[in-house]
This record gives sequence, C-alpha cells and structure tokens, in this order.
Amino acid sequence: MIVSKQKELDEIIKKIKGSVFIFGCGICSDTSRTGGPKEVEAMKGILSGKNIVVEGTYVIDAMCHIQKVRKAVRDNKEGLSKAQTVLVLSCGSGVQSAVAALPVGIKVVSGVDTMFLGNIESLSSLKEMCSLCGKCVLNETGGICPVTLCPKGLLNGPCGGMKNYKCEIDENMDCAWVKIYERSVIQNTLEDIKKTAKPRDYSAKKPAATLKFTGSHK
Ligand code: SF4
Ligand code: SF4
Repeated sequence: MIVSKQKELDEIIKKIKGSVFIFGCGICSDTSRTGGPKEVEAMKGILSGKNIVVEGTYVIDAMCHIQKVRKAVRDNKEGLSKAQTVLVLSCGSGVQSAVAALPVGIKVVSGVDTMFLGNIESLSSLKEMCSLCGKCVLNETGGICPVTLCPKGLLNGPCGGMKNYKCEIDENMDCAWVKIYERSVIQNTLEDIKKTAKPRDYSAKKPAATLKFTGSHK
C-alpha cells in the first residue's frame, strides 16, 4: 500500500489554473484517506467554495494502472474537455499515469505527497516495512528489514549507539538489529547474520526501473 498525505490546500490551489477535474484512487489513496471517494467529494466542495469550477470527478480503482487511467480519460471526455487542470489525489505514480494518459495541453497537479510503501496494521495504522531497495536481504536477516527499520540502513549488526535494546535515533523504537538477532536465535539462523554482508549493490536500484513480463497475464 502506497501511503500518502494531502498537500497543504494553499499549495494545491496555487497550482490550479482555470477549472478543474479531480481524479482519485480507490486503492492506496482511499486507504490513506487522501484520495478515495470521500476525499474527492470533500476536495470538490472545498474548491467550489473557493470559486474554482469543478468540471467533474472520478475515482479510478488504481491510478498507477495507466490503461485504467486511459479508459477513465475516455469515459470522462466531456468533463475533461472543459477542464484546464486535472487535480490528482493519488501517489506520484498515479499522477504520472495521468500525465501519460491526458492530452499535453492539460495541466496535471498533484494533490498529495507520497510517503512510503506501508503495511496495513489496522484501518488507522500504516507502517513502513520495506523501502523497495531492489536487492532484498530478508533471507539473511530473519525476515526483518534492516534497510527500512534501522534508520542508518546498517547491514552488519547494530551501531554503537544502541541502548537498552532501543535505537539511538528514536528511543521509542526497538533497535532493528536486536529484533533481527532475537528472531535469528528463535529460528536457529544465527549463522546467516554472522556472515558479513557485502556493500549494497546499488545497481539493483536503477532509476525509473521497469519490469517487463513475457507471456500473458490472467
Ligand atoms: S531488503 Fe528491505 S527494503 Fe530491500 S526489498 Fe527487502 S524488505 Fe524491501
Ligand atoms: S540503534 Fe539499531 S536501529 Fe538504531 S541506528 Fe543503530 S543499529 Fe540502526
């Protein structure tokens, strides 16, 4: 789940030129409460109250799916043809789907800040557990991610700042490496963390990565 938070309203309004069409995302932004049906309706009310004409709204079930965004653009041709700006209440990926799917003359404005990939702990709590680093070390660390859960991203055990099993950066947080150690003891996989991890291979995290599949996808 991509977690996002709404930008300041003034920042959004400053970027809007003319009338606006609002897109939301029914998956991640809905869960983050930044761009689901409720938030899109609320944004429509706020903008209308500021004398900005809202030509239409539409919540796509996944703004990151460019084909779905293209279809939504076709289905909302009339409203979109009157709008000078399209406001997208979804993650940066969704905003760029809109950029790819809309005619170049339409200004696309992002209404949210994309925060992180979050695990859903409960309906009101999303937690970052993976930073999408491109070279997963979970098989060597008892299934707990040091890249994300250790603020320094250390791969070879704790730093000298760990105190009472807590992280030196945030004393309310368990040291990631204590958790990794405890789990490795229980699972009898201490040998894995005794090995020295090689320096991270950043080539696995190329900018603007693309994954292409071969064959058909059901
Ligand atoms: S090592 Fe951590 S950040 Fe990298 S892919 Fe695995 S879980 Fe994600
Ligand atoms: S105390 Fe632990 S979690 Fe915090 S920075 Fe050091 S190694 Fe990482």
